[in-house]
Amino acid sequence: MDTISENLSHIRQRIARAALRSGRNPEAVEIVGVTKTVSADRVEAAVKAGLRILGENYVQESFEKIEALASYGISWHFIGRLQSNKAKYAVRLFDLIHSVHSEKLAREIDRQAKKYDRVQPVLIQVNTGGESSKTGVPPEDTVDLVRRVSRLENISIRGLMTLPPFFDAPDRVRPFFRALHDLKKQVKDAGIDNVSMESLSMGMTGDFEVAVEEGATLVRIGTAIFGERP
Ligand SMILES: *Cc1c(COP(=O)(O)O)cnc(C)c1O
Repeated sequence: MDTISENLSHIRQRIARAALRSGRNPEAVEIVGVTKTVSADRVEAAVKAGLRILGENYVQESFEKIEALASYGISWHFIGRLQSNKAKYAVRLFDLIHSVHSEKLAREIDRQAKKYDRVQPVLIQVNTGGESSKTGVPPEDTVDLVRRVSRLENISIRGLMTLPPFFDAPDRVRPFFRALHDLKKQVKDAGIDNVSMESLSMGMTGDFEVAVEEGATLVRIGTAIFGERP
C-alpha cells in the first residue's frame, strides 16, 4: 500500500473509533479530502484509495484538478473564502459550497444558480470563535441569516460549517464544535421551510476526532492524507 492509502485507512479507523465512543454510526461521517496545493497526481492516488469527496479552497486552482479527475465521479466541495465575483464558477463546479457567510454572497450564488437552472446546495459558515481573521456569521445572527437565505429559490441550505480558533490541544476546540451542534438544533427548532440540517462540516487534521464526537458529518482533512503543505 502507498502512503496516501495507508493514511486514509488510518483516518477511517480513527473516525470509526471516535464515532463509536460517542454512540454514533461511523457511516454518518464522511471525509472531505482537502486538496489545496496538492497536485492532481497525488489527489488521484487518494481517489484510487476510495476518497470520493474533495474540497478546494480556490476556484482558480480547482479547474485543472476537476478536469483531470472528471472520469471518477467525484463530489467536489468548495470550502474556501468565496468572493462574489467567483460565485459563477463555484456554482458550475461544486456540489456543495461550505462557506456562505452573508446574504449578499447568498444572493449572488442564487442569481448564478438560476442561470444554470439549478438549485445550489450550501452550508452556512459560522464564526464560532468570533475571530476577526475568519469569515462566518456570528453565532447569534445565524438563525436570522438562515431564514433570509432560505427564501432564495435557487439555494438549498443543508447545514452549518465552522473553522474554529486554532489550539494545539484538540480538546480546547471542543466548545466551538459543541456550539455549532447547538446552533444546528436551534435552526431545526425554528422550523424554517426549505432548510435541512443534515450536514455539520467541522474538524480538520488536528481535531477531527473531537469534531466527530461532537456530531460532525463532514470532516475536512488535508495534512493527515497528503502530508504537510509547502
Ligand atoms: C486547509 C483547510 C482544511 C484542512 O486542514 P488540515 O489541517 O490540513 O487538515 C480544512 N478546512 C479548511 C477551510 C481549510 O482551509
